[in-house]
Amino acid sequence: MHSELVAALDIGGTKIAGALVDGGGAVLVRAQRPTPAREGGETVARAVEAVLAELTASPLWPGVRAIGIGSAGPVDAAAGTVSPVNVPAWRDFPLVDRVARAAGGTLPVRLVGDGVAIAAAEHWLGAARGHDNALCMVVSTGVGGGLVLDGRLHPGPTGNAGHIGHISVDLDGDLCPCGGRGCVERIASGPHIARRALDDGWRPGPDGDTTAAGVAAAARAGDPVAVASFERAARALAAGIAATATLVEIDIAVVGGGVAGAGEVLFGPLRRSLRDYATLSFVRDLTVAPALTGADAGLLGAAAAAVPDRWARTHTPASVGGHGG
Ligand SMILES: [Zn+2]
Repeated sequence: MHSELVAALDIGGTKIAGALVDGGGAVLVRAQRPTPAREGGETVARAVEAVLAELTASPLWPGVRAIGIGSAGPVDAAAGTVSPVNVPAWRDFPLVDRVARAAGGTLPVRLVGDGVAIAAAEHWLGAARGHDNALCMVVSTGVGGGLVLDGRLHPGPTGNAGHIGHISVDLDGDLCPCGGRGCVERIASGPHIARRALDDGWRPGPDGDTTAAGVAAAARAGDPVAVASFERAARALAAGIAATATLVEIDIAVVGGGVAGAGEVLFGPLRRSLRDYATLSFVRDLTVAPALTGADAGLLGAAAAAVPDRWARTHTPASVGGHGG
């Protein structure tokens, strides 16, 4: 009845989400635990196993044919290990092995980075549908992304390809925790948009919201410092997107995550800046679109990545519906 049912795990620094997802992208069963990110590696692993136990207890479980994992990175898909920056106890943690065993040891398990998962979700059900060459990114507390090339997900050898947040767009820019300098994330992430606005004299409104959402509200109201902070973030994103387009000829860049929720405050200057940076004939028609898969992007992407040969080729628009947001 539920064709091509897969189990999906979305592992982040704050929550571990799991789901059973059918071949049309419908989420049929859900489970979730907070990530005990400051505790030991075994404690984090047990939280993953608790999520899996809820899924395996479902009467639908016998129909599951594969497991997909999207994890905060870096990941090493070849080794089956993860070392999420925001889960310090997990370094080269053998996540694929643990999940495979907890699920009974018979199902194939595929691991990708969370940015790659977003790209899979947006290509399957979101704004990149029908595009054979796409960069999909998340701009929130960090900046991540993934690539679809020639109609297929391109995770790269270790599952991290397309990690646009850590390419440098400012040669003499600020040091980034990754060890680089002037990274896209160091300029365009929510915390850095807010930090720059505050440093330049912006003050929050009566609600005291000093996050990027607060800066976005001020920018919509015309506050010049808030506008400038979003414009700088947009330029950093545009430079990264233009570089990606020039390298591999993507025709769409999809942008999701909390900062993308700022809407035209971000997308307006982003489109303008792309005209400055994406100038050659073969990248000039590049479009930018907001992501459509919303809060379930990580789960849907993990589900898509679980069956790599299925999602890219066989999904017709008729089999999909009601998963925007
Ligand atoms: Zn960096």
